[in-house]
Amino acid sequence: MTQLQHTLPKECKAYLLRRGDGERYVFGRQVATIIADTASGGGVFELATIAGGKGEEFPVHLHENTYESILVLEGRIELMLDGAYYMLAPGDYAHIPPGVKHAYRMAAHRSAFASYTVPGRVSDMYRALGEPYVYVEPPAEEHPTFGEEHLERASQAADVAFTGELPQWGSANAGDHAHNPGLIAPYVIENGEGERLLTGDQLHRLVAAQANTNGEYIFVLSDGPKGDPIVEHYHEHHTETFFCLQGQMTMWANGEEIVLFPGDFLHVPAGTVHAYRLDTHYTKVAGLLASGLFEPFFRTLGEPYEPHAFPSVPGPLRMDRVMANMKNLDLHVVARSPLERK
Ligand code: FE
Repeated sequence: MTQLQHTLPKECKAYLLRRGDGERYVFGRQVATIIADTASGGGVFELATIAGGKGEEFPVHLHENTYESILVLEGRIELMLDGAYYMLAPGDYAHIPPGVKHAYRMAAHRSAFASYTVPGRVSDMYRALGEPYVYVEPPAEEHPTFGEEHLERASQAADVAFTGELPQWGSANAGDHAHNPGLIAPYVIENGEGERLLTGDQLHRLVAAQANTNGEYIFVLSDGPKGDPIVEHYHEHHTETFFCLQGQMTMWANGEEIVLFPGDFLHVPAGTVHAYRLDTHYTKVAGLLASGLFEPFFRTLGEPYEPHAFPSVPGPLRMDRVMANMKNLDLHVVARSPLERK
């Protein structure tokens, strides 16, 4: 059975959505594409991408019981986060704990970001605010935008509350990106920054750790050169997600081989046998892992790493430490390589 989908699955399973596929809603000149909702994400996370034109904005709001992780994909996003203003570029990450006020304005003609929400119950917001949209790309012409009655409907349907405050757009400073405070607080991490761990030839940036999410999830931005597949494995307890950002990668999920291009998303719920390989000279992938219990794996396999680019010569890959700690990690190795499977 193929995992390739063009529409959002109705139940939690391993699935692939190509860039642009999913459930789409339009408002103004913005398109929200729901890639994972409560049903398909198994109630542990949701994911939507928001794309739109310069000047498009979203009013000040908060999520009472939901964490939001924002990753900028294209253009520039001016973000109001807890009263501070940031101009975000592709690869920049914003961490929004429950109860923290935020809003955005798109500052480039083609802007887009990914919005992960944990545990979820936010995707219904787009269903309440927008109109179903058959096209994929943001429209050239303005579509009707939401009014008071839509906001009311959204706050009934989803974990969102609109505050009615008006942001002071235009006050962002591109330089004021904070570092990870190591606790539950709002923060922004510039592309390439964050705690860095090297596993062989791949560089992982832990932009949200368990300490930032009360253990609910971790968020990892990884890049590396063309390389070999990692071991084929599965996790008993945590869900993994792979969102290809740059280059091209091959993934294996329950025996099926899938090539991911930028914007493609693969959901890997607990129990899915999987592996991946980076296929281009520069490949980058974003991963939200929920719960966050897999964090020690990266420190066990990897080593702290100071530079901001992966090394020309691979560093150590401490599989010995992983093997010695296997029972403390939510990791079950199935085969040394997906290519060696019988
Ligand atoms: Fe995995």
